[in-house]
Amino acid sequence: MIAILKQSASDEAVSHIVSWIEKKGLKTDVSRGENETIIGLVGDTTKIDPFLLESMDVVERVQRVSEPFKRANRKFHPEDSVIDCGHGVKIGGDQFQVIAGPCSVEGENLIRIARRVKAAGATMLRGGAYKPRTSPYAYQGMGPAGLDLLCEASAELDMPIVTEIMDPRDVQVFLDKKIDVMQIGARNAQNFPLLKEVGKTQTPVLLKRGMSGTVDELLMAAEYIMSEGNDNVILCERGIRTFETRTRNTFDLNAVPVLHHLSHLPVVADPSHATGYTRYVEPMALAATACGANGLEIEVHDDPSHAWSDGAQALTPDQFDDTMRRIRAIREVVCQEPVQE
Ligand code: PEP
Ligand code: MN
Repeated sequence: MIAILKQSASDEAVSHIVSWIEKKGLKTDVSRGENETIIGLVGDTTKIDPFLLESMDVVERVQRVSEPFKRANRKFHPEDSVIDCGHGVKIGGDQFQVIAGPCSVEGENLIRIARRVKAAGATMLRGGAYKPRTSPYAYQGMGPAGLDLLCEASAELDMPIVTEIMDPRDVQVFLDKKIDVMQIGARNAQNFPLLKEVGKTQTPVLLKRGMSGTVDELLMAAEYIMSEGNDNVILCERGIRTFETRTRNTFDLNAVPVLHHLSHLPVVADPSHATGYTRYVEPMALAATACGANGLEIEVHDDPSHAWSDGAQALTPDQFDDTMRRIRAIREVVCQEPVQE
């Protein structure tokens, strides 16, 4: 349920209604926009008489929200959320960012790759220190030493880092090391204890869509994080598993406008994991940019044939330079004012 307040509603009136709702055991989510203020009601709304709420002076109207996701819902928060990822980098609304770097942190090559992706125009550095691998015998990541390498690169280049967290017991390590953005990977998209634990922090979370996850399941995973108090969630479309086997996954670019319609959260697209092959990464990066993603996550490695994971989908730094030029060209087209008829 949402209560849309009259434009004239004062701060005092808003806090009066908020405390009236909260006394009934519900939580509230207040979104103050330029033209209207919306109070989202979360919890057992049967305890609220919608007619009584609507009869209050400052309330314009009360509307039921049928979707099971509340805090992630655009109805609760009509304006796009813009998330501060640190180092002056914000994502969401018209702020577009490119996250790039190797699949795994492997060692000293990280800083070389990081310098190249930054020079090409990437604004955030990625690299996995904890790797979710299908086989327990495959490379599992450097762990805390990998986080340290990321932090060193972040300090040298003044750019935020994005790195995957797999275990709720590691949250404190990520906080201690001041990791800018915690990534929750496709395999953990419904790891509810992990979602709740990162929800207790204020660190931005890049939340990937599950391998066979629906759009609604992605939004409900975001809701888990937000229901614990962390609103800094960035959604990520990274391809889903379908009957098609020519590519690693099927890039569901429909999800980008669908998520924008349903939610105020920023949407990033990952053409690397979505396609699985270097040759397809650029065209799909451009397509994702064209359909309105707020950012891209792209894997880059300076020696893909020796990469410890996902070498087959990595762009070289030279390829990434070209791709970034074309992404910028697409952004210029997408950001143009609509043509006057
Ligand atoms: C990754 O970003 O390296 C990764 C493992 O991604 P996903 O969870 O989308 O497979
Ligand atoms: Mn990868």
